[in-house]
Amino acid sequence: MKGYVDKDICIGCGICPDICPEIFNMDDDGKAIGSKEEISEEVMDNALDAESQCPVDAIEVK
Ligand code: SF4
Repeated sequence: MKGYVDKDICIGCGICPDICPEIFNMDDDGKAIGSKEEISEEVMDNALDAESQCPVDAIEVK
């Protein structure tokens, strides 16, 4: 499973890298970007938490 961000929807609030910095980072354009790495078991709960807390539903963990 990986974390995907739809940059057309992301408003750059910064919540997802706060919750799960292993997977989500802010890109140079001020929008979030997901890691290309597979999400490890250790951070999966945080990745799913970031997905559910994104205020505009721009994140998909799949
Ligand atoms: S939580 Fe959602 S809106 Fe906020 S930076 Fe992450 S993807 Fe963008």
